[in-house]
Amino acid sequence: MTFKNKTVIISGASRGIGRSIAIELAGIGANISFNFLKNIKEAKSLEKEIKELGSCVKSYKVDIKDYCAVKFWADSTKDLFGNIDIVINNAGIINDSALALMEPGDWHNVLSTNLDGTFNLTRAAIINLIKQKSGIIINIASVSGITGMPRQTNYSASKAGMIGFTKSLAREVAPYNIRVNAIAPGFIETDMLKILKEEYLNHMRKQIPLNRLGKAEEIAKAVKFLISDDASYITGQTIVVDGGLSIG
Ligand code: NAP
Repeated sequence: MTFKNKTVIISGASRGIGRSIAIELAGIGANISFNFLKNIKEAKSLEKEIKELGSCVKSYKVDIKDYCAVKFWADSTKDLFGNIDIVINNAGIINDSALALMEPGDWHNVLSTNLDGTFNLTRAAIINLIKQKSGIIINIASVSGITGMPRQTNYSASKAGMIGFTKSLAREVAPYNIRVNAIAPGFIETDMLKILKEEYLNHMRKQIPLNRLGKAEEIAKAVKFLISDDASYITGQTIVVDGGLSIG
């Protein structure tokens, strides 16, 4: 499979799952345009890694919450690479607490990063996909948006919102030969989990039938499948990659 001359625009790729997706897709020849919030050092090291793979890459320090800045990023990507073929909404944060103690700012920050951010990048890029009558959009949701998790009302709401967004948009843009799908990871070993207590992670590990946390590369492989022709009849779906956590 080759994605030579195809351009991927992906949010939040300086670290974690986004970084693994960028490397996986650069490995099959795609041009990579990614943003990040503050980790310039990590962003530059990803640029270097992708160039060493022989693919083209450009990073942008753009807050996904800021629509005008995201529009500038998408327009610059189109100018630089000539097209945008694949949009990956990955940037996301958690800010967990019991609802009874949750500050309005903690609610809004999670919703505006995860859900408004998904709107911002998709809205800024989609006209390119519609004009070329082809494209793929992947939204990185979460099992939390399907089953719910205590202390994550803000995060669960944002991820359930992304799943609804995926279904509606899939119906809307199918006539333009654009597929829209979501991936719902379970617990994946990234910096995001570092703020969770080891005791809680051990408890969660016991709930996972495969008895381990997932790796970012395992999410990247699912993305690679969904953007391939092997997934040409799949749209509007949420693919769960969670080691069996959500089986019930
Ligand atoms: P991570 O390791 O914390 O990385 C988050 C990435 O998003 C970083 O590149 C960060 O940039 C970027 N980012 C955060 N806020 C941003 C903003 N306002 N504007 C632009 N970029 C921003 O997280 P992760 O675990 O890889 O998570 C990636 C996605 O997977 C998220 O949507 C998350 O909800 C989802 N997910 C993760 C897990 C898990 O267990 N890890 C499970 C289910 C779903 P900086 O480096 O500059 O901060």
